[in-house]
Amino acid sequence: MHELGVVFHVIDEIEDLAQKNNVEHVNKVTLQIGTVSGIIPDYLVDCWNWAVTKHDIMAKCELIIEKIEAVTHCEACGRDYNTIVYGKTCPHCGSTDTYLLQGNEFMIKEMEVV
Ligand SMILES: [Zn+2]
Repeated sequence: MHELGVVFHVIDEIEDLAQKNNVEHVNKVTLQIGTVSGIIPDYLVDCWNWAVTKHDIMAKCELIIEKIEAVTHCEACGRDYNTIVYGKTCPHCGSTDTYLLQGNEFMIKEMEVV
């Protein structure tokens, strides 16, 4: 499962940060996830809740997910539109000369520690 790999990666990174900063326990982690990143938040939470039980420093650590809406920019007419609804084709002018501005993010925004 893709989400499990993602969770392991995030936990590794957080443990690393925690050790470098002499953190005793991580209470809460906030992730920002784009709506076209391919990650399904519900699966991610399930994997998270299981994975944190294997790491003392993160036992019962809460996961907060902030979604970032996907927005595409059109080179032809210079406007932005909702990627989820219209995909690669601009709804304003019909051009496919477009690129994703945001929505593919996957990053650790913040962590709350003891
Ligand atoms: Zn356009």
